[in-house]
Amino acid sequence: SLKITEECINCDVCEPECPNKAIYQGAEIYEINPELCTQCIGHYDEPQCQIVCPVACIDLDTEYPESDEDLLAKYKRIWSK
Ligand code: SF4
Ligand code: SF4
Repeated sequence: SLKITEECINCDVCEPECPNKAIYQGAEIYEINPELCTQCIGHYDEPQCQIVCPVACIDLDTEYPESDEDLLAKYKRIWSK
């Protein structure tokens, strides 16, 4: 999963770009649901939120280390429902 850091300026550009609807407005800044973020695996070659974020405040969430296989399995779980 990726993670939005406190540099987020709440611009709302990333939220509609997420193919898994993993991004939401949190209490202070936008947040990413790690249960839904596949780092865009299954949809795109690159994380779409990182591409569009104007302040580059989206990083890898080191609390959720995942391999590409883990992320693809998550993608399949989400989209088989
Ligand atoms: Fe959504 Fe992709 Fe960003 Fe994860 S990396 S939050 S799936 S746009
Ligand atoms: Fe925050 Fe970046 Fe998303 Fe804008 S694009 S809401 S600055 S994380």
